[in-house]
Amino acid sequence: MAYAVTALTLISSMQSVSHRQLEKFLDRDSVAAEDWQHLAESVRHLYQSSDQQNRLLQGVMNAVQDMVYFKSIDGIYLGCNALYEAHVGVDEGQLNGKTDHDLVIEEVADKMEVLDRQAMSGSEQHLSERWMGDAEGNQICILTRRLPYFDEHGKLLGLIGVCRDITDIKIAHETITRQSNFDPLTQLPNRRYFRERLVHEIKLAQRSKLQLAVLLIGLDKFKSINETFGLEMGDAVLTQTAFRIPDVVRETDVCARIGGDEFAVVIPNLRDVTDVERIAQNLINRLAEPFRIGDDEIYATASIGIALYPDNAQDMDALIKNAGQAMYYAKSSGRSRFSHFTFALQEAAARRGRLSRELRRAVSHHKFEMLYQPIVELATGDVRRAEALVLWNHEGRGLIGPMEFIPLAEDSGAMVEIGDWIFRQAAQQAKHLRETFDPDFAISVNQSPVLFRNPQAKPSDWVAYMAELGLPGQAIVLELTEAVFMKAEEIAKSKLEAFRDAGFQMAIDDFGTGYASVAYLKKFDLDYVKIDQTFVQDIEDNASARVLCEAIIAMAHKMGLKVIAEGVETEAQRQFLLDAGCNYAQGYLFSKPLGKSDFDRLLQKLKQNQSA
Ligand code: C2E
Ligand code: CA
Ligand code: CA
Repeated sequence: MAYAVTALTLISSMQSVSHRQLEKFLDRDSVAAEDWQHLAESVRHLYQSSDQQNRLLQGVMNAVQDMVYFKSIDGIYLGCNALYEAHVGVDEGQLNGKTDHDLVIEEVADKMEVLDRQAMSGSEQHLSERWMGDAEGNQICILTRRLPYFDEHGKLLGLIGVCRDITDIKIAHETITRQSNFDPLTQLPNRRYFRERLVHEIKLAQRSKLQLAVLLIGLDKFKSINETFGLEMGDAVLTQTAFRIPDVVRETDVCARIGGDEFAVVIPNLRDVTDVERIAQNLINRLAEPFRIGDDEIYATASIGIALYPDNAQDMDALIKNAGQAMYYAKSSGRSRFSHFTFALQEAAARRGRLSRELRRAVSHHKFEMLYQPIVELATGDVRRAEALVLWNHEGRGLIGPMEFIPLAEDSGAMVEIGDWIFRQAAQQAKHLRETFDPDFAISVNQSPVLFRNPQAKPSDWVAYMAELGLPGQAIVLELTEAVFMKAEEIAKSKLEAFRDAGFQMAIDDFGTGYASVAYLKKFDLDYVKIDQTFVQDIEDNASARVLCEAIIAMAHKMGLKVIAEGVETEAQRQFLLDAGCNYAQGYLFSKPLGKSDFDRLLQKLKQNQSA
């Protein structure tokens, strides 16, 4: 548009213009305010000037890529270029003498009139933007610059308008905004946008003096959905979750996906806290309904953490963090439930954080101890197996059990290093027991699923270490939980095969507690099944536990596997298992887990008893 102005100025001041000069001006894209005045001058001049100049002006106007028009002070069109004619849908030369009221609906024409009047009452260019339907019914966005023009005495004569179709720019801008604010998979607002909205809602709550709740919704065991059914199914579950959450809350409540399997909702204007609990429970119920994906039905549950403004926290970060702690608590106390933030939770979270940092230090200083629990051959009472169990020797608190720190190690990335240390200790112990007591002795080592997922933990390192110690693979039994077997990932499978090839034995731990089924026993070449202690401990007073133990033993034997019963505490349990044909047992009835020298003493005593 700027070039049109400059070109017009030129035309009005020159008799003839060369193409070159015109092109040069047409390239310029900035406009100074005084150029507008020149244009206005030119226009006035034009209408009094020769036909030739008139045609030249029309040519220039048609050459520019913007729509250009002139109007009188009364809004009557005095001229325009071809683009503008096409835009308003009139034939060539048909616009002159018309007003907007002849062209568009009343409402729109009124609006244009207002804009025109605003432009004519000033001397600066006046900008306006408007979405409208074009001739083909597409939505387009038009940017219009309006400027008044005056005669040589400064009397207002009319208006010049230059319009540009900025639809593409607008759409590009919207796409960028969308991409930076919305999650591409679920189309829900993302974490960034959620945080922005939460800040805004907190401000509103401050003013209204009403409470506000942040709900953090975590899908339970989403990882295992991904691992069992594949990433595509996992994505489908997330997408459907994103549809279900807004169903349960009001349209004005902000819903977002703020992490892989984490969603969040802000509920403003709360008068009663029980409202939030009702919403949380509805969300849990809605998400517990089966996800139908293709021909499959997938069951998932959700755990929800609730934090309230202003009671639980006053700023955005703290609210999200506190809701997160409450969600963690809901998950750790059984999942598929909601839980409120409390300051006790905050302390627990701080403790976990502290412990996690201390654990890192403990790893580099090897502040762990190994205990070995004998595994007894039921038919003979012989001990040629033991399970290695780890303890953390904490400076202030003394010994900490694996149930407390292994999950921390897994979350903080320390597990690979700890697992490596444990393995080497266990291998050394196997070597020692083989040399001192029994050349067939084997040590069972618990394996975190993390080790099978992490590419840093290489089976070849352990195989090499065994060779260094002069130990055959059979000296180690890897105890694996179903989580390892459920990895559809190739890396876990190839690791299992590498251990297998090196002669390591394999046991499936905690059998009967999860999804692990006979199918896994068949698919992977295993040596032992360990019946979970919860079943063993029910043997005496629960008939179905007895049936289950017998069934596991019969099935394992049919497949050529040996059975180890865990957590045997009473003589009656031992007798039942012996009668059922169970091969091995471990538990307090025989011995607690023992340190290295205590374990030696136990074996010594057994040896003496046998020879006596
Ligand atoms: P798990 O593999 O099922 O280990 C058996 C647990 O039962 C051990 O608990 C053991 O001390 C306990 N136990 C043994 N006999 C009895 C009994 O007669 N009655 C009862 N009530 N319990 C008995 P612990 O040492 O606390 O280990 C707990 C879990 O921590 C283990 O369960 C295992 O999953 C994990 N863990 C232990 N050591 C390691 C390790 O070195 N690496 C990894 N990745 N995990 C480990
Ligand atoms: Ca175990
Ligand atoms: Ca176990």
